[in-house]
Parts: sequence; structure tokens; C-alpha cells
Amino acid sequence: MAREGYFYWLDWPTYLQKHDPTGMAWYRNTGALVVKTPHNKQLEKVKASLDEVGVGYLDLDAEGIKTYLPNADLRKYFPQKWITDDGFGTPTGDKIDGALWIPESGYISDPTLSTHNVQVAAEAQGSEFQYNAEVIDILKKDGRAAGIKLADGTEYHTPIVVNVAGPHSGVINRLADVEKTMSIKTRPMKQEVAHVPAPEGMNWERDGYMLSDGDIGCYSRPEIGNHILIGSEDPEFDPLLWIDDADDYDTGFTDQWKCMVMREAMRIEGLPIPNKTQGVVDLYDCSDD
Ligand SMILES: Cc1cc2nc3c(=O)[nH]c(=O)nc-3n(C[C@H](O)[C@H](O)[C@H](O)COP(=O)(O)OP(=O)(O)OC[C@H]3O[C@@H](n4cnc5c(N)ncnc54)[C@H](O)[C@@H]3O)c2cc1C
Repeated sequence: MAREGYFYWLDWPTYLQKHDPTGMAWYRNTGALVVKTPHNKQLEKVKASLDEVGVGYLDLDAEGIKTYLPNADLRKYFPQKWITDDGFGTPTGDKIDGALWIPESGYISDPTLSTHNVQVAAEAQGSEFQYNAEVIDILKKDGRAAGIKLADGTEYHTPIVVNVAGPHSGVINRLADVEKTMSIKTRPMKQEVAHVPAPEGMNWERDGYMLSDGDIGCYSRPEIGNHILIGSEDPEFDPLLWIDDADDYDTGFTDQWKCMVMREAMRIEGLPIPNKTQGVVDLYDCSDD
């Protein structure tokens, strides 16, 4: 799916067949550096998959990482520890196992605009959208979903209802009365993303790329304002911030923010650890297994 999507993003206007007057989202092909760990089995299976679908990569030893990240601290920290655990920040080995450099990788910097592009393209094909309309019930007939009911009382009858409610998907499944038959259910989970300034002398906004570092349990990419955007790869022993009600939860940062930034600073020498938290707090829709 990712490989197929890559070609759509490379030529987004051709894929959509419609120009959005608001502007078109653009794909930044920065490349990606993915660190080998015992957990990802030194990326052996990943390499086999990349070979199979014809994606090029460079197989780097630890020193080879310096070509892409000159100020890398190459020491090993796996298995990751939580911020309050003994030994947090203490290396467990002299060097990480290496990494893959995958040049045909990147990101779309403006998901809102890209979604608007899709809306405009879909409308050109006859789709209709209705906004600010809450689905309060899933209509049923003969044991199947048969439509939706909105808060203003409007009903739409249809043989197919698609649940794309994101972190509210569990609520919709309960309205449809199907959750109890699902062996794997979905639940919202709080996630934090940190924005921190790049180290002095580093133009990460210009030179940066996707960095998936399973050794420290973080992913990162460049962000506007010469910032580094850091997210968690949710290592095994980190607390999971399950949320009961996706409409009512604490949207403040927790120790997850601090832990991620400190972990990223273990790899990128000179990364500032600001006192002021900055970034995004939102919800993942997660399977409960
Ligand atoms: C902090 C964070 C960082 C992320 N970073 C990245 C990233 O860097 N790259 C990436 O690819 N992905 C990222 N993701 C994941 C990405 O945001 C999601 O995969 C994506 O938004 C899912 O899109 P969706 O349309 O399925 O659901 P959503 O975007 O959640 O949309 C669901 C919509 O359904 C609506 N809805 C819910 N219930 C009802 C109802 N009863 N009636 C009417 N409407 C309803 C909601 O209001 C919402 O608009 C990130 C997620 C988080 C939380």
C-alpha cells in the first residue's frame, strides 16, 4: 500500500484528476533512515519485502549513519526504559546495529490541504459531503446496517455504511450493535508529538528526513521553523494512555513528551530539551490487542 501510495503522491494532480483552487498538497521526498534493532530483527524481513516490491535501499553499518546524521551518538540504548526507570539514558552497548537508508521516502506536510484536495476531486466525480452533522444512530434492517440517523433527525437509507469515525469508531460500532461480535475492538489512545528546535548549526528543515529509530523508540521528521517533530514508536514498557471518552480527555502533555525528547537527544547530539512543551496532543484509534 505504501509503495502504491508513493506513486500517487509523486504525481498527485494526475491521481486526483482535478486541480483544487485552494492549492495542491505536495510530497517532500526526503528519504528515510530506519535503525536496526533486535525488536525489528535487524530489518531482515523488511529488506526482503523491499526487494520483493523493488524499493531501493542502502544497508549501512553504524558508522555509515554518520553520512546522514553527522552528529549522531551511535551508542545502543535498546531495550528502551521509561523516564523514571533505573538506567534511563544509560547506553547498553557501544554501537547500534546499523540502519537502512531508503531514498524513495518522504511525507506530506499538510494533511488538511491534502484532504481538501481529495474532497474537491471526489466532488468532481459526483460525491457529496455534509459537514457539522453528527451521526447519532445506525439504522438496522434484517440484522444489517441499513443507514444512518443524524442529530437533526435526518435519516439516510443505504445498503452500505462505512465506519470512518477515527477514534470514535468504537462508538459507531456500538451504535451499529456489532462491537460484541468483534474479537478485536478499537479504543482511543492519547498520543503526543513534540516539536523542538534543531541543534544549533543544523538546518533540519532543509536537510532533514524521516528517522525511524527503534533503538530509542522514536520517529522524527523535519518541521517548519527548523524544528524536529518527534513521535513515539510506543516501546513495549511505556505506559499506554488509553482514553474512555474521545470527547472528554485531558489534552495536556504528560511525561510522554519529555521522555521522547530526552530519548531523541540520546541520538542527536546537541538537541535542546526545552522547558516549554510544544507540539500536538491527539488520539490514535487503536485495536485493543
Ligand atoms: C498525534 C498524532 C500524530 C500523527 N502523525 C501522523 C503522521 O505523521 N503521518 C501519518 O500518516 N499519520 C499520522 N497520524 C495518524 C493520522 O492522523 C490518522 O491515521 C488519520 O487522521 C486517520 O484518518 P481518518 O479519516 O480515518 O480518521 P479521522 O481523521 O480521525 O477522522 C474521523 C472523523 O469522523 C468524525 N466523526 C466521529 N464520530 C462522528 C459521528 N458520530 N458523527 C459524525 N462524524 C463523526 C470526526 O469528527 C472526524 O472528523 C497521527 C495521529 C496522531 C493522533
